[in-house]
Amino acid sequence: MQVFISVEEARSLILDTLSVQETTQLALEESMGRTLAVDIESREAIPPFNNSGMDGYAVLSQDFETIPVTLEVLDEIPAGAVSEIVVKPGTCSKIMTGAPMPAGADSVAPVEWVIEDNKTHVSFGKAPVFGRNVRKAGQDVKAGEIVINRGKTVTPPVVGMLATLGYARVDVVTPPTVAVIATGDELIAPGESLTPGKIRNSSGYALCSQVLACGGKVLPPLLARDNKESIRRTVEQALAADVLVFAGGVSVGDYDLVKNVLDDMGMEMLFWKVRQRPGKPLAYGILQGKPVFGLPGNPVSSAICFDQYVRPAIYSMLGKGELLRPPVKAHLSRDTPKVKGLHFFARGIGFYDESNRLCVHDTGPQGSNLYSSMVKANCIIHLEEEWEEASAGTEVNIEWITW
Ligand code: AMP
Ligand code: MG
Repeated sequence: MQVFISVEEARSLILDTLSVQETTQLALEESMGRTLAVDIESREAIPPFNNSGMDGYAVLSQDFETIPVTLEVLDEIPAGAVSEIVVKPGTCSKIMTGAPMPAGADSVAPVEWVIEDNKTHVSFGKAPVFGRNVRKAGQDVKAGEIVINRGKTVTPPVVGMLATLGYARVDVVTPPTVAVIATGDELIAPGESLTPGKIRNSSGYALCSQVLACGGKVLPPLLARDNKESIRRTVEQALAADVLVFAGGVSVGDYDLVKNVLDDMGMEMLFWKVRQRPGKPLAYGILQGKPVFGLPGNPVSSAICFDQYVRPAIYSMLGKGELLRPPVKAHLSRDTPKVKGLHFFARGIGFYDESNRLCVHDTGPQGSNLYSSMVKANCIIHLEEEWEEASAGTEVNIEWITW
């Protein structure tokens, strides 16, 4: 087991143990938010045929050398219909947006250009150039083109594109099921009244929603008390899931028994403790082939550790292309506490100053029990491990929190 490792080492040890989940096929309308398991190839050109971009008249641009010009109307082509009549010099066909271009015509004169209309003939006051207002076959997507890569989240535009391409069913990755186990004799459920010495189980519930927010499935929240028997029983229940996430019980206190129980149950512990704040006591191992995260119980620590380690792990199991949020450069607008030798994940508020420069300050006191900092934050500020201090003006990496 490795001890007191860097953030990057911890992340890569975790990711090395994971593989992508199996594939499930879903109806297109149920696929929103899931992750594509296959590259999406277009079997057809989109649009499939040359069609009109306007309501107007399909014409030959060569007829418009002198303006105004009067043309004979041969046909009327609504969307969905196909005209068999060829447009020849001196003629045109009325056409609606999206209708296939009739043979012979090379452009569309919009209805707004008509200066006189007696049904059999129309006169135009303006000339289209060759190809004007014609949407060419394959203009959007070529046949055989990979339009969307596997690993991409199904968003509303992805649903729209899949529908365009004729995918009524779509192969997505089966999301991992995650068990969240809160531990502690002090914990009571959110709906119960506080009694002396007790606090509400916030981490358990927050972590369950973090699982959902990143595309995992979650078992109902589990709670273990600070004794080996209770922890063991709960672990057995939790093993119904693909991933186990503990909140609490992984530190060095007398009641931090989670690691001992997991050890007894045969877990291979890969690391314990990471050079970071919050979340130093983070532990990770494999039990019966399943990833097990031991997050510190403090609600801020568990939230940040989930965000920085469990979320990328779930993304990796989903086969997503991007596991981490892209870092964005910002400037600290005030001094921010920092200790050398630990990577700090400060909860931050990013904003643009009067000269439109991206700035950030922390949310205030950063104690790992101060959960309101999580609610206020719109970003995480990274203060690098080797930095001794983080004074106003320092350029930092931030990542926007998107939940
Ligand atoms: P632990 O990691 O078990 O030593 O817990 C560290 C701190 O977090 C203690 O103050 C606990 O009371 C608190 N804590 C542990 N689990 C939770 C939880 N599920 N919800 C809220 N606070 C917790
Ligand atoms: Mg505890």
